[in-house]
Amino acid sequence: MGQAARTTKLLLDLSEREQGGANRDKRRYLEETVAILDAARVFYLHFFLANPDKLMERVEVISKQTGEVADRLISTDKLLTWAEFQTVETAEHPDPLPAWNFSQAFPQFPNRYRRSVIKDCIGKARGYLSTLSNWQSKGSKKGKPGKPGASNHPTLYAGTYSLDLDELDVRKSFVRLKVYTGSAWTWVHYPTRYNRYFERRRSEEGWEQESPTLVLTKQGASLHFLQTKTITAKKIVESKRDPDLVTVAVDLNVKFLAVITVRQHGKIMATRFVCDQGLDAHRYRHLKQVAKKQWQAGKVVQGERSNQQLWAHIRRQNTDRAHKTARAIVEVCEQYPGCVLVFERLRKIKRSGGSKSRRLNRKQANQVKGNITQLAKEKAYAIGVVCVEVNPHGTSQYCSRCGAKGMRFSLAAGQRTTGKGGKLFFCSTCRYECHADFNASVNVHHSFFREYHWQPLAYKSG
Ligand SMILES: [Zn+2]
Repeated sequence: MGQAARTTKLLLDLSEREQGGANRDKRRYLEETVAILDAARVFYLHFFLANPDKLMERVEVISKQTGEVADRLISTDKLLTWAEFQTVETAEHPDPLPAWNFSQAFPQFPNRYRRSVIKDCIGKARGYLSTLSNWQSKGSKKGKPGKPGASNHPTLYAGTYSLDLDELDVRKSFVRLKVYTGSAWTWVHYPTRYNRYFERRRSEEGWEQESPTLVLTKQGASLHFLQTKTITAKKIVESKRDPDLVTVAVDLNVKFLAVITVRQHGKIMATRFVCDQGLDAHRYRHLKQVAKKQWQAGKVVQGERSNQQLWAHIRRQNTDRAHKTARAIVEVCEQYPGCVLVFERLRKIKRSGGSKSRRLNRKQANQVKGNITQLAKEKAYAIGVVCVEVNPHGTSQYCSRCGAKGMRFSLAAGQRTTGKGGKLFFCSTCRYECHADFNASVNVHHSFFREYHWQPLAYKSG
């Protein structure tokens, strides 16, 4: 059993008033809210770090199921109650610690926000203390962990926000947020860039709603809705014993981002090629530009977009392609319930020659591969498909039909040129010829079942 998680973003409409967006004051309120919550977080971080013993207190817990007494770290809820008792003025407890009077420092601070801040700080302070004690026990002088930062995207627990979504009229969707205006706390309506896609994701069955977070950036503001789902999936070792097991293997490349093959009973049943749709060539063009500008010793060319924007553009394209490729992989998995998804462990790229732009482009391509693996893993897990990574040794060099060592070649004007960069694969032992990426993808299945002599002895499940 495990948990899958995903987020869906809902953008707040902060365009000018005439275009139907929120006015500038509302934008400022969001900034004020984030600022005051950060300030409150600084307060509680200092408070907890001043009381490390309480933070790491061990308490005896009696298990409800077995009745055994266990020694556990004090729970977050108990710590929360304790911290509120020490710092907040209430009718029953009118005098908190004078040095730590939160009610005086932050008057009228909403309870829900305070609790979210305290919980946040407990996590941060505990994480810091445990890395600190690890570092102390190691005894090295270098790498002393830094104090945790206070800024974070505020979590909106129930009571600090409400969604008014009107499905019929998209323009009528609002979110009500409790915000700080700089002097007081009030409820404010924010128009959203609501879409059907958002509603579909939110109402999808099996997903549980968690508290959303408010993410404020230079470009805009959005609410990130977190959803979780409990997944029950078989272990890889168990699946492997099943004679009817379907394996979906993926070979990641540059031009064909993914070559997906499906295998059952030793036979390849389906194949899907996912093309990069010109991403590599497009990125290369931009990187040439970047390399040129870097060579010009940081001089910005007048009238041209800066490298920063260029990088953002490249990053966006990479992520977009990675998401789409991962989606394609999971679409294949969806057709075979109970299948196992097999990837190659990502190779370390060797420092190869070539121009600077070429080297930059290889590095980017490798990062895209990593992103695809990660995203496909998450998306597949959400539908109950477990992913395993196998050793990449030999998958592109050996014949997927007989296991002998073969060679790569390419065809140009009827002429065969053998070489490493060839798109096709040829086995001189059994005269088998096919697309090199397809051959590699089929070999990934062999790696998983360890069927040939060149297969490594151990595989790591992930
Ligand atoms: Zn062969």
